[in-house]
Amino acid sequence: MLTLNNPALLRTECYLNGEWVTADTGDTLSVTNPATGKIIATVPACSAAQTRAAIDGAALAQPDWRKRTAAARAKVLHAWHQLILAHQEDLAQLMTAEQGKPLAEARGEIAYAAAFIQWFAEEGKRTYGDVIPSPFPNSRIVVIKEPVGVCAAITPWNFPTAMITRKVAPALAAGCAMVVKPAEQTPLSALALAVLAEQAGIPAGIFNVITGDPRVIGGELTANEKVRKLSFTGSTAVGRLLMQQCAPTLKKLSLELGGNAPFIVFDDADLDAAVAGAMASKYRNSGQTCVCANRFLVQASVYNAFAEKLAQAVTTLKVGHGTEVDVTQGPLIDEAALCKVESLIADAVAGGANILNGGRRHALGGTFYVPTVLTNVLPTMRVAKEEIFGPVAPLFKFETEAEAIQMANDTEFGLAAYVYARDIGRVWRVSEALEYGMVGINSGVISTEVAPFGGQKSSGLGREGSKYGIDEYMEIKYLHMGL
Ligand code: ADP
Repeated sequence: MLTLNNPALLRTECYLNGEWVTADTGDTLSVTNPATGKIIATVPACSAAQTRAAIDGAALAQPDWRKRTAAARAKVLHAWHQLILAHQEDLAQLMTAEQGKPLAEARGEIAYAAAFIQWFAEEGKRTYGDVIPSPFPNSRIVVIKEPVGVCAAITPWNFPTAMITRKVAPALAAGCAMVVKPAEQTPLSALALAVLAEQAGIPAGIFNVITGDPRVIGGELTANEKVRKLSFTGSTAVGRLLMQQCAPTLKKLSLELGGNAPFIVFDDADLDAAVAGAMASKYRNSGQTCVCANRFLVQASVYNAFAEKLAQAVTTLKVGHGTEVDVTQGPLIDEAALCKVESLIADAVAGGANILNGGRRHALGGTFYVPTVLTNVLPTMRVAKEEIFGPVAPLFKFETEAEAIQMANDTEFGLAAYVYARDIGRVWRVSEALEYGMVGINSGVISTEVAPFGGQKSSGLGREGSKYGIDEYMEIKYLHMGL
């Protein structure tokens, strides 16, 4: 049973145009706890007409929000940030209930999510323009930045809160309005954010949360010409589809898509530090993050030593319900995720890979899986090409620096990469050769609100967080002033 200190945070209506509403059709979606398989709530399955009405409301509200000073918008955003932190425990409980991650990770995500709001409240004050020396004696050239207008966000279940604030905070700070469609697995975290947004004084229509069938709502968000920008985090397949759907109305796009992160361990690396980084990068959120190490590329001379140390470290992980103390590994999000992990491991084993740890479902049943380490893995296996999104570490062997770079870049994806080495020349050469948007060097955790998060190639478009993140929600306007 989910008991919150503040039961008002468990909200099961949508927040559209400042009102809490059910679906006009009366349809609902159920929200399941992945640790128990039990339904914990139902939320509205809103229609395309309701999505359109939400967009219309956002379009009506946005001009007044835009007219406020950045400092005035920041005041409201800071209030929201404070409320989120004040309710961190309840928000974490809600998240663990619908997503499964251990409570400690859920608390961490709430703090991380709130940090984007604080960061962008301040960045909103620094959306500077430019003055360009004119090539003509009788004119002046000035560049200003303006909010793009009404924005839409479609967000995933693996970070139910942070993936929303990472988009909404820069949008609102810039003076935009936002309609968010959260993942159908994790709508409660999104609706709780809306409860606090309303309390913080974010005006009606500026932040909206709509739940329901992704195709119905996504269809309207992408087709509607009042929406000027779509920000999406999710799979590459859906990202491609949404980009196509946005083509007729030429929306601005931010796409944070899949990854296939290489984690390269050279022979001069501090192996204990590499193992610590590997644990943080691989097994956080049970391997369900787009920056999780997907392929461990280990230099031949340290391959066995690294494998042994990693296998040893993995035995310290504790699988269980996220609400239990000491649990580090929650369940996978659903049966489909579990089946994918099983089929990737079966494919690798059939090709000659060895299972060092795990390789089986956990005794707890449901979607719990034993953290796994595989050795003798080859680049031809499926696990080398597909995003695992589960607690499985496949170890590949390489001989030379050139080979490591070639293997690391041999994928359509380009989100995060990790390099463990001490030779400074090697660190620079490899970091520059990696076709990735982010490189963790002797570091397995790279996400922070102050740095630009994003990928190259099929991992997407645009950057989130940092001073760059707010530009995604602003248009540049050039003023040519005759004297
Ligand atoms: P995952 O495999 O991690 O669930 P998805 O890309 O399927 O990744 O989901 C990410 C988000 O995209 C979720 O909010 C989901 O509801 C949404 N989504 C999935 N399919 C579509 C679609 N056809 N149109 C719009 N949104 C979609």
